Amino acid sequence: MADIDCIVLGAGVVGLAVARELALSGREVLIAEAAEGIGTGTSARNSEVIHAGIYYPQGSLKARLCVEGKQMLYEYCGQRGIPHKRLGKLIVAADPRQTARLADIARRARLNGVDDLYLISGAEAAVLEPALVCDAALVSPSTGIVDSHGLMLALQGDAENAGAQCAFRTPFLEGRILENGEFLLSFGGDEAMELTAGCVVNAAGLSAPGAARRLAGQPRALIPPAYYCKGSYFTLSGRSPFTRLIYPMPDSAGLGVHLTVDLGGQAKFGPDTEWVAGEDYDIDPRRGDSFYAAVRSYWPALPDGALQPGYTGIRPKIVGPGEPAADFVIAGPRTHGVNGLVNLFGIESPGLTASMAIGRETLAALAPTPQHG
Ligand SMILES: Cc1cc2nc3c(=O)[nH]c(=O)nc-3n(C[C@H](O)[C@H](O)[C@H](O)COP(=O)(O)OP(=O)(O)OC[C@H]3O[C@@H](n4cnc5c(N)ncnc54)[C@H](O)[C@@H]3O)c2cc1C
Repeated sequence: MADIDCIVLGAGVVGLAVARELALSGREVLIAEAAEGIGTGTSARNSEVIHAGIYYPQGSLKARLCVEGKQMLYEYCGQRGIPHKRLGKLIVAADPRQTARLADIARRARLNGVDDLYLISGAEAAVLEPALVCDAALVSPSTGIVDSHGLMLALQGDAENAGAQCAFRTPFLEGRILENGEFLLSFGGDEAMELTAGCVVNAAGLSAPGAARRLAGQPRALIPPAYYCKGSYFTLSGRSPFTRLIYPMPDSAGLGVHLTVDLGGQAKFGPDTEWVAGEDYDIDPRRGDSFYAAVRSYWPALPDGALQPGYTGIRPKIVGPGEPAADFVIAGPRTHGVNGLVNLFGIESPGLTASMAIGRETLAALAPTPQHG
């Protein structure tokens, strides 16, 4: 018999949501985390937006798990008193040409099951948000914000109440699959150790492809490369002039320089995109220079010098610059043929929104393949 039934690698929001699902389903769970606590990676360095699920391709995991996860998250936050606000978001068109494209966005959203978007004129938008200048806007009432750390603490609490244990400063080093189908994993940290496990969920975020490559016995061709795409945020001093989230029209490069508001009412702009070689969270203050023109397309009154360097996060990409966006990868036995193993790759945005749905999907993905099971 294995030392532990299930080992989850990584205590970000996704690893914690997976551990909670596993523990609530009656499985014995150990969460092995390299850092000294929960949520010090991407889960602590994002926009904290509960996304509606508007832009993702129809039928993708991102679309389905964002919409399901949003619903689960709002319910969970309500039940557990996790700070959150359903602020709503405006997607703003700067001119009539962009206004014509808003209908396409609403159509795509409907295909994803987001059917509450509605169009308002520039004048109506200015009533809602007096600082805003636009030709028209699409309102997304179900977009919101959440205290991501509060969410992670609640997920950890539920998992631990159901018997899960967290081991911090416990980085997974390498492992292999034994003849009896169990996994033998070795960990570094304060006390180096080896453990056998009946199942492994690789939720190591930016490091997930690397961790998979160090777990021998699975098909290497199915492990994607890891690319890092940094996003920098610039904050606005003082109170936000907007109460809702403001997004310009998306373009081929992404969602544009948008404005999000945190639970304390402070506004931040970003994230931008910068491909980087490693996990470097420094912020280059000069990147803010390009934000001014972009923001003034919808907020002309942005004063010179108002933006301060905030923080950065890194998107765990599995496709490189110029390649079409990839979907979430939840690779279980039906994908790679190894019973008891699920790799989570490319869990970038909307991974926070989708976290609880990813937890549920991972549990389903662990179902053994018919020929082995
Ligand atoms: C700039 C930016 C903005 C975003 N904004 C949003 C948003 O507004 N809304 C939204 O829904 N999503 C957003 N996201 C996406 C969201 O933040 C992520 O999808 C989510 O946080 C991923 O969680 P995770 O648990 O997979 O990864 P992480 O939080 O990175 O957790 C992985 C954990 O694994 C640990 N680890 C790594 N290697 C090992 C190892 N060898 N052994 C043990 N542990 C290991 C790490 O220390 C880390 O704690 C954003 C992402 C970025 C980068």
